[in-house]
Amino acid sequence: MSDDQVVSMTARRGERCPGCQKPSVERYRPFCSKRCAEVDLGRWLKGGYRIPTDEAPAPGEPVETDEDMPR
Ligand SMILES: [Zn+2]
Repeated sequence: MSDDQVVSMTARRGERCPGCQKPSVERYRPFCSKRCAEVDLGRWLKGGYRIPTDEAPAPGEPVETDEDMPR
């Protein structure tokens, strides 16, 4: 595979930052800056782009339901 080919295919001009719509910067493509890239990543981690799944919430999470129970 040729790296040059990959670059020419991905280095599109006129690309816009998904975060703020400013022209994207090659280094942080498709974002305009590291900041926007991190914001987007943060959204990912918070589930903003959550992928639909049938999986239940992570097991092992302690369920605290007896706070109001008499001792
Ligand atoms: Zn941006």
